[in-house]
Amino acid sequence: MSAPPRILLIEDEAAIAALVREALEEGGFVVDWCDHGEEGLRVAAAGGHDAIVLDRMLPEIEGLSIVRRLRAAAVAAPVLMLSALARAEDRVEGLDAGADDYLGKPFEPFELVARVRALMRRATNPLPGAVMLFGELEVHVKARRVHRAGQHVALSPREFDILKFMMDHAGDVVTREMLLREVWGLNFDPQTNVIDVSMSRLRQRLDEGFAGPVIETVRGAGFRLLGGVAP
Ligand code: CA
Repeated sequence: MSAPPRILLIEDEAAIAALVREALEEGGFVVDWCDHGEEGLRVAAAGGHDAIVLDRMLPEIEGLSIVRRLRAAAVAAPVLMLSALARAEDRVEGLDAGADDYLGKPFEPFELVARVRALMRRATNPLPGAVMLFGELEVHVKARRVHRAGQHVALSPREFDILKFMMDHAGDVVTREMLLREVWGLNFDPQTNVIDVSMSRLRQRLDEGFAGPVIETVRGAGFRLLGGVAP
């Protein structure tokens, strides 16, 4: 059996801490509680926690400064910030400081537990990364920008979608059926050369000025992204 997830709770108000702790423990978490900012920062920085629930207003060091210092120290545990300061500006301040989520006081303990669970899910299954890397390719998913060996490659939206899908399956064969379904949203083969035309343009753009291809055709199967750097 794997160890239960461990949460660090940094909260100076004993009554709130007790409430949070009880709810988290009922949710199957093990809880370590610090009621001082300094101690909380030290324990958090030591690592070993799957998530941190951090009160914003603490004696000694405030929560904002704790989360900033944790991020600066590359502590990766997701942080849920709690605060009575819960206007939009306050939330933005907390998130900008490095918190992953922000819950205004008063709150329902079951909502806090659900948010901690959601944070941990995101931490173990990160969203498709902001930047995907494979071989010479660098795909900035949000910005929809592509570089090959550091050189920008301009792609049409469709070409980008094809490449992004191939990056999701980097190193594996991507079939025509997969491309039709996932990129074109078609559950049938339209019996046209739409894939070949798009694929040929995508290759042209990716390969221009380079010695070797980044996409290979696998006869009778589909296409595969090549990870090796061309000689
Ligand atoms: Ca407080």
